[in-house]
Amino acid sequence: MIIKREPDEMLSYLEDSSNFQKGKSESLYIPEDEKEVIETIADCSNKRIPLTISGGGTGTVGGRIPLEGAILSVEKLNKIISLNKEKKRAILQSGVIIEDFLKTLETQNLFYPPFPTERTAFIGGNLSTNASGEYSYRFGSTRGYVKKIRVILSSGEILEIERGKCFADINGDLQIGDKKIKVPSYVTPAIKCSAGYFSRSGMDLIDLFIGSEGTLGVITAAEVQLIPALSSPFIMIIFFKENEILKFISEVKGDKKLSPLSLEYFDKGSLGFLKKDFPNIPDERCEALYIEQEEGENILEEWANLIEKYEVIDTWISQDKKTHQKLINFRHRLPENINDYFKKIKSRKMALDIAVPENSFKELFDFYQALRLNNPQIETVLFGHIGENHLHFNFFPRDEKERKKVAKVCEDAIRKGVGLGGTVSAEHGIGKLKHKYLELMYGEKGIFEMVRIKKELDPYCIFGLDNIFPKSLLM
Ligand SMILES: Cc1cc2nc3c(=O)[nH]c(=O)nc-3n(C[C@H](O)[C@H](O)[C@H](O)COP(=O)(O)OP(=O)(O)OC[C@H]3O[C@@H](n4cnc5c(N)ncnc54)[C@H](O)[C@@H]3O)c2cc1C
Repeated sequence: MIIKREPDEMLSYLEDSSNFQKGKSESLYIPEDEKEVIETIADCSNKRIPLTISGGGTGTVGGRIPLEGAILSVEKLNKIISLNKEKKRAILQSGVIIEDFLKTLETQNLFYPPFPTERTAFIGGNLSTNASGEYSYRFGSTRGYVKKIRVILSSGEILEIERGKCFADINGDLQIGDKKIKVPSYVTPAIKCSAGYFSRSGMDLIDLFIGSEGTLGVITAAEVQLIPALSSPFIMIIFFKENEILKFISEVKGDKKLSPLSLEYFDKGSLGFLKKDFPNIPDERCEALYIEQEEGENILEEWANLIEKYEVIDTWISQDKKTHQKLINFRHRLPENINDYFKKIKSRKMALDIAVPENSFKELFDFYQALRLNNPQIETVLFGHIGENHLHFNFFPRDEKERKKVAKVCEDAIRKGVGLGGTVSAEHGIGKLKHKYLELMYGEKGIFEMVRIKKELDPYCIFGLDNIFPKSLLM
């Protein structure tokens, strides 16, 4: 096992894509196998040293950044253990990089439907945040494809949890070895959601660990469901005049012949962030929709018939491999450019990740527009997974006064989203940045119910200190 203690050797582990800057660590453990993971946990548990689990470091809420104690990086647990083509299942160690996994699957004509957007993330990080990906409009989030996990608890106990084998009983108890874990009284909304511990009556034990942001144990391996490779998709980017897109999307959703893999929104501000990379973005005030779908009989005509009904400013369609890649870059470049900009202006990420049920989305969208109009001095970007009623609203406060203003605006939006039956985090998680928002969603009682679960499974509270709930609640 590699152990590092020099501060400059740990620097890169004290960041992720949040620009959270309070990271501190005394030591970094890089185990090479599960036995070494257990040794690390035993060492930290015995000495009561907080242990923060590190994946690919692409998280957006500071989850892998320790405030104190040690780091356990799963980067050497990077083997694809098996790939069963017939059963369409893969067993992976948790440090497998998504990009490597997807490339291996390609050679076998298989596909992993969560198709996580950020390919340098690890599969373990994806499970721990219940990440969604590029095709989540069609396929949903990571949770739906996880069949089995291996988790090491702070006691050193190895849990092998298989989906479909252990459910909460009628009293709301989940049995884990000799422990009974009470399912919280709140209900995780039935929409895209990565906020706090999953909770439903009769829930599967595996779902407690998926999305638990490194607070309950170290996931060392997982078995995931695959599907046959998709036939080659095409991409369209349609530039609409403002206020046309919602109507268009509701037509898309109502048209049974259209079944896009993704439906992504880019507001005027987003297009501004992309203009240097894509100078032919129209200059007029407009918004864009990115659509991806497999080729199929009459599909393009079907789309053309729908688009024809609208007065669109421009439409780009991928024609070959090169233009396809260019349009994929259009989508990927935006979050990257935004993260770079946050760093450039030395601002901590202030971004909303709210999703709401289908019938409430227009109300939230209008609310966002009003927030922008009422705060014209604050730079914003609104983009994302409009097909799933889930947009990322990013704010770029430049000083403390603006930061305070944005904090208030965010809280107003969160209250609105929660009031509409939504979630404060559809995919990025809570980490160290959104405790307060989670409380708005589940109330103090819900937070204490999560803390109770945490303490049952990790009595000395070594894992993921300050993730999901503030460390002060664990004292
Ligand atoms: C440009 C960009 C685009 C992105 N797009 C999306 C998107 O479309 N959808 C989306 O959902 N996210 C997106 N993200 C966020 C990010 O990729 C995901 O949150 C991802 O799942 C994090 O994985 P990671 O391996 O980088 O985890 P890390 O950032 O290293 O850690 C994330 C959390 O998981 C915990 N963790 C990591 N590994 C383990 C393990 N083995 N056991 C237990 N806990 C563990 C950590 O402690 C931490 O709390 C994007 C990020 C970037 C930079």
